[in-house]
Amino acid sequence: MFEEIKEMVSMRDAADRYGISVSRGGFACCPFHEEKTASLKIYDKSFYCFGCGAGGDVISFVAKLFSLGNSQAALRINEDFGLCLSTKRAPAASLEYQRRRRQQEREKQKFREEYLSKCRRFRSLNKELETAKDFRRAEIMAEIEYLDYYFENTCWR
Ligand SMILES: [Zn+2]
Repeated sequence: MFEEIKEMVSMRDAADRYGISVSRGGFACCPFHEEKTASLKIYDKSFYCFGCGAGGDVISFVAKLFSLGNSQAALRINEDFGLCLSTKRAPAASLEYQRRRRQQEREKQKFREEYLSKCRRFRSLNKELETAKDFRRAEIMAEIEYLDYYFENTCWR
């Protein structure tokens, strides 16, 4: 679950979600020590505070922010971002189980590639929309609507 979360939720997403405003340069005021100038650097997958030395990934960030253990933080992110990740552990392996599992893994992989490519498409469409001319706008809006529908009805797994 940890790896999936780190893949799904960027540090920037977490900062936004938990009310930490990040500047254009990726700096924010550190919530872990008192400061007036932003010295917390938000990278894509990690953070580091040049003021107090706090650092880590998205899970340890949320853990620190809410004084949680890493597992609890992962559960919290799972819930707050509606990731629908399963927390169940795999039962003991049998051959049949392993075969099914590999099949599921392949399907999951395929699903994820599609989902992530739709995410990328969604972002690029939104970007294109900013400067698109009228005739193209309608096309973009239609595709965005379709993707919206997809994301609303599709849970990451
Ligand atoms: Zn700090």
